[in-house]
Amino acid sequence: METKPVVVCMWNLGQGGLPVGTEEALTLGRKVASATGARLHLLVLGPLPEECLETAGRFGADDVDQIEDAALEGFAPDAYVDALAGYCQQESPALILFSQAADTRLVAPRLAGRVGAGVLMNGVDISVGESGGLQATASAYGGDTQMVYELSGAASYVVALSANALLPEPAEGGPTQPGCRSIQVDLSGVNERIRVIEQARTEGPRLEDADIIVSGGRGLGGPENYKLIEQLAEALGGLAGASRPIVDEGWVDSSQQVGLTGKITRPALYLAAGISGASQHMAGCSAAKTIVAINKDPDAAIFRYASYGLVGDCLEILPELIRAARQ
Ligand SMILES: Cc1cc2nc3c(=O)[nH]c(=O)nc-3n(C[C@H](O)[C@H](O)[C@H](O)COP(=O)(O)OP(=O)(O)OC[C@H]3O[C@@H](n4cnc5c(N)ncnc54)[C@H](O)[C@@H]3O)c2cc1C
Repeated sequence: METKPVVVCMWNLGQGGLPVGTEEALTLGRKVASATGARLHLLVLGPLPEECLETAGRFGADDVDQIEDAALEGFAPDAYVDALAGYCQQESPALILFSQAADTRLVAPRLAGRVGAGVLMNGVDISVGESGGLQATASAYGGDTQMVYELSGAASYVVALSANALLPEPAEGGPTQPGCRSIQVDLSGVNERIRVIEQARTEGPRLEDADIIVSGGRGLGGPENYKLIEQLAEALGGLAGASRPIVDEGWVDSSQQVGLTGKITRPALYLAAGISGASQHMAGCSAAKTIVAINKDPDAAIFRYASYGLVGDCLEILPELIRAARQ
């Protein structure tokens, strides 16, 4: 009997390229497919992005499946759920993987409900357990801890993979040559009940891709001091980030928020000034290779994560760092 496929699902919102996290989801999908002898499919809702077949091949996908329909243009969660449910009926996947983002949060659990699948959000890994069944690891309490779940009892599972949960790794045996299969699903009866009225800004370099991030928090004292964060970020060739309170207080745009409810980043260097190190903030930066913290409180939690810590007033230390970085 053929093993049921593993499917990585994405949609094309015309932002150029594959959505963030697709390569990570393909990496995990390949791992599970290899361990279970299943085929790995990349399912695309909407038009195929230009490099889709090449990327799918590089990450070892066996097939690229596509559902194209006018109802799938733009973000259309009801149509997406219908399309995916129709796909599941035809292909009976064992595992459907999403890269977790604001839009997938609206689709993945509803798909699971529709097709009677088990669902797990905040996934970071899936492996084959001792019993031969799948085990999924998910982060919990804002990344403070991890839970391991046995995926048994349902015929299929929907897992949303946390951003930056793992590093993308191309298929070990070299690229595959996936063909593109067009899947037909009847979406004529879709009644779209959710309308996107405002989308997050996406232009310019993204914190998620930055190698160097300098972030500021409430310890900066006031919005006028955030320019020190921007100046140091610029001098180091990086991007400026922020903790949530200073976003909430309107000092900076929400696109700069790092953390559980902001951007999940994985830079080589994360410099945090006047940030306490709450778990919800660290969920967005603890994967950084090196964390440097400036805080006037020697007992601040951030020093538990930092490779280098500077105890002192960030309003005095930041200008010195800017001067040194500019030299
Ligand atoms: C559901 C939920 C989701 C959340 N999501 C996020 C998220 O995505 N991102 C996020 O950041 N937070 C998030 N939070 C909030 C989080 O819990 C913290 O409240 C927040 O991260 C604290 O921000 P902060 O460190 O800037 O401020 P504070 O906690 O007020 O810390 C300020 C720090 O600056 C230091 N300081 C003060 N003055 C100076 C100075 N002159 N020089 C140097 N250091 C100084 C202080 O010692 C202190 O450690 C979330 C909370 C909840 C409940």
